[in-house]
Amino acid sequence: MKCVICKTGECLPGTTHFTNVVKEKLVVVKNVNANICNNCGEAYFSTEAVEYIKMKTKEALKNSENVELFTV
Ligand SMILES: [Zn+2]
Repeated sequence: MKCVICKTGECLPGTTHFTNVVKEKLVVVKNVNANICNNCGEAYFSTEAVEYIKMKTKEALKNSENVELFTV
């Protein structure tokens, strides 16, 4: 699959960290499966990966004070 951002890179399966700020809290979901561009590093998440991110984000908001880090 060609990258739609830089249009030159090839997207290859790998893992990446997903960082998001929700309700003024930094949520980092580590080691999420994604297709990652070998040129610009853009990550493409599958539907399953997005569901996983949502689940982990919900957990983080329930359990954390400020910053929550996850290790799979
Ligand atoms: Zn790219």
